[in-house]
Amino acid sequence: MILDEIRGRIPHNLRMPVAASVVSISYFLSGKLALSLSFQPDYISALWPPNSIVLSALLLTPPRRWFWYVLAMVPAELAADLPSGISLQMALAFVGADCIEVFTAAFLLKTVCDGPLQLNNIKNVVLYALCAVITAPFISAFFGALVPALGETETEYIIRWRLWFMSDALTHLVLTPFIFLWLTLDTDKKNARTLSRTVEMIVLVSAIVIICFFAFRRGTKFIGYLPSLVYAPLPFLLWASARAGLRGIFTSSFFFTVIVIWRASRGYGPFATESPVNDVLHLQVFLFLVMSPLILLAAAVTEREKGESAVRESEKRFRLLADVAFDGIAITNRGVIVEANDAFARIFEYPPSEIIGLHVSKLVAPELRHSVMEKIKSGYEKPYESLCLKKDGSEFPAEVYGRNFSSDEGDLRITAIRDISHRRNAEIIHKRLNAELNAKNKELEQVLYVTSHDLRSPLVNIEGFSSEVEFSLKELLSVLDNNDIPQATKEKIIPVVTQHMPESLNYIHKSILKMDMLLKSLLNLSRMGRIELTIEDIDMNEMIATIISDSQFKLNASKVHIDISDLPQCRGDKVHISQLFSNLLDNAIKYLDPEKPGVIRISGNTERDNSIYCIEDNGIGISPEHKEKIFEIFCQLEPDRVAGEGLGLTIVQRIVDMHKGTVRVESEPGKGSKFFVSLPS
Ligand code: ADP
Repeated sequence: MILDEIRGRIPHNLRMPVAASVVSISYFLSGKLALSLSFQPDYISALWPPNSIVLSALLLTPPRRWFWYVLAMVPAELAADLPSGISLQMALAFVGADCIEVFTAAFLLKTVCDGPLQLNNIKNVVLYALCAVITAPFISAFFGALVPALGETETEYIIRWRLWFMSDALTHLVLTPFIFLWLTLDTDKKNARTLSRTVEMIVLVSAIVIICFFAFRRGTKFIGYLPSLVYAPLPFLLWASARAGLRGIFTSSFFFTVIVIWRASRGYGPFATESPVNDVLHLQVFLFLVMSPLILLAAAVTEREKGESAVRESEKRFRLLADVAFDGIAITNRGVIVEANDAFARIFEYPPSEIIGLHVSKLVAPELRHSVMEKIKSGYEKPYESLCLKKDGSEFPAEVYGRNFSSDEGDLRITAIRDISHRRNAEIIHKRLNAELNAKNKELEQVLYVTSHDLRSPLVNIEGFSSEVEFSLKELLSVLDNNDIPQATKEKIIPVVTQHMPESLNYIHKSILKMDMLLKSLLNLSRMGRIELTIEDIDMNEMIATIISDSQFKLNASKVHIDISDLPQCRGDKVHISQLFSNLLDNAIKYLDPEKPGVIRISGNTERDNSIYCIEDNGIGISPEHKEKIFEIFCQLEPDRVAGEGLGLTIVQRIVDMHKGTVRVESEPGKGSKFFVSLPS
């Protein structure tokens, strides 16, 4: 806005004083100008521009700062009136009535309009006319006519009221919107007037000025009829309304009105007669009758232009949206493409110029043509997959989504197409890798099974032979009792047979036990993958009750308080799921804090298609860096403190994987752990 640019150059605290000074000076000068254009000998003004200036300023200022303009009006009015011989009392009455008028108009407009006034549609123009052109001057005229008419007759008061009302109403009809619209001109607007529009406006205004000079020249006096020349400017004013909207008509009518009033006040033109009071009235009525329909016409034009520009703008945005889309988008009329974005031509590898006019059947693989055409005909509105044809005849899979809509051209269809070859390829690769992974897993399980199984027989041998060695040692010891063996030899052999060898045998025995345990665990784990699951609905309340009663001895020994909520059912293999929850419950008991009373809670809920169970304890907890690690095979965080194999959670993980579920842990060292298990419900 022009005004914002000016405001931006003035320091903040000086803005209102500067604005008030500018208004005050303009008020004074325009008052002087109006007086110079008044009708002699009574100084009757057909227009009173100072009020236009103040009302425009008020409409552009927040109400809390309006008082600045009262300060601007009073001195300016006195300075204009007093030197012209108007009494102080009269001048104060005038400025008072003017204040009433402009503040009433501004207040009414602020009240009836949502936000700042915008003269760009019929509704706002009509509201403006009702508030500023009719109501405000109607009220202020009672006060404005009062003091001058003191001591005069009632008829003279009415004449003064009418003069005041007509001149101020005309002022707000023609002049105020002219000032307001130019002050609010949007200088940033990208679609600002083009050069040709500006030239057109200059030609138009010049034509109006010239014609007015000609029509209202000396000698064309009113002699009982209006010379037809007064209508000469009308076509040009009409042109301004139709072509340039409200700003155009107010600019043209500003020149038109000023010239007509000026010529009439000088006694030229058809409105100049012997009676200034009648002259002014005729002139005002003429201007009212001419300007009102033109302003309404211009409002309608502006409103339509605004609507059209909004449509153009939204069209531009949609075009852009379609152009930047990765999907191909096309509009078809009975199967023939009438519009398409760049991506559409790109996907089908056609030059963009060849796409328009193409029938969609040429873009579909022959075997699917019939079904696709059926979908188009029936207005199918769900996404579907199809096989499409590129220009070179190669096929590609695509996802298609279409919608029918009616337009002036008939029923059209808009279709979006996405090439899904990459997705398809990725799916194929994914499937292949999955199959490979499963095969490898099976192979690994087989190796694990065979090795853990086969390694047990040499272990049994080692165990057998170490018992054999133990037995032989005992025999050797009895042989050493023989007195034939020299004492020196005995002393050498006895420590070997009684200490070193039994010690070594003891280590061998412990290792055998450890190895046996490991092999058994591995064997168990490998067996799990080989067992077929029997999936059925599981009543978890029942299953957990059984597990608890099996663990009752341990629970009593550890003095654990156990709290179980109502649990949702799940689907799974009963044996495995029971093992899963037994392992978690065992751990919850095993890893309780001996320093505080143990509490274990088991709860569950359902989320979409899954049942989620939580086994919570207030035990020693797990530090964050171990949260993933504990599910690894043979992982034991404190092997010396608590007995275990480091296999329980590995089995838990394996079972949830087999059931396509999940398991995760939330824990805080010293506070406890929560194991969440999600299984299909
Ligand atoms: P383990 O036989 O050692 O219990 P698991 O696989 O069951 O083997 O658990 C692995 C490790 O995870 C355990 O050694 C223990 O340190 C930790 N752990 C498992 N459950 C809990 C729990 N409820 N609270 C604290 N630590 C736990």
